[in-house]
Amino acid sequence: MKIIYPGTFDPITNGHIDILERGLKLFGQITLLVSFHPWKNTLFNLDERVEMIKEVVKVYDGKVKVDSYTGLLVDYIDKNKIDGVIRGLRAVSDFEYEFQMALTNRKLNKKFETIFFMTDIKYMYLSSSIVRELAKLKADIRDMVPPYIGKRLREKLSNVL
Ligand code: ADP
Repeated sequence: MKIIYPGTFDPITNGHIDILERGLKLFGQITLLVSFHPWKNTLFNLDERVEMIKEVVKVYDGKVKVDSYTGLLVDYIDKNKIDGVIRGLRAVSDFEYEFQMALTNRKLNKKFETIFFMTDIKYMYLSSSIVRELAKLKADIRDMVPPYIGKRLREKLSNVL
């Protein structure tokens, strides 16, 4: 089965990694799919986000592939014959958006399923945007991202500030 976990991953956090690891238990292999939408202002550009994820997923011995896409997710799904899309759910606020996205994608393409993983309570309030904000303020983010991502954030923000 071909399973993708799409997202912006700006940057990847321990919340994403938790969903990924739980997905691997069910599916054995997952492609982390990094989105590029030029109107979205990201801290890390696409190449950086892909490279950072590749570094972090080395520990999964090839069970995690990394790819990127631009444009419509359903086009990627069609072209690559994807069977399932993993998404994560935190609070109720995620639900409405994810519900809308899943139904819209289903309307455009009926050949795949969206699988939702409920967040671990530890990561309920963890998001890439919180991590970016805290890193800018030089807060301790060691519990929130892998050490390599923490390092990349420090490097990036030392150039910005
Ligand atoms: P997007 O811009 O597509 O929402 P993100 O990188 O923010 O991309 O998130 C990708 C997916 O991971 C989304 O389904 C999001 O709800 C989920 N996610 C993000 N953080 C967490 C977390 N802490 N726990 C569970 N799921 C999460």
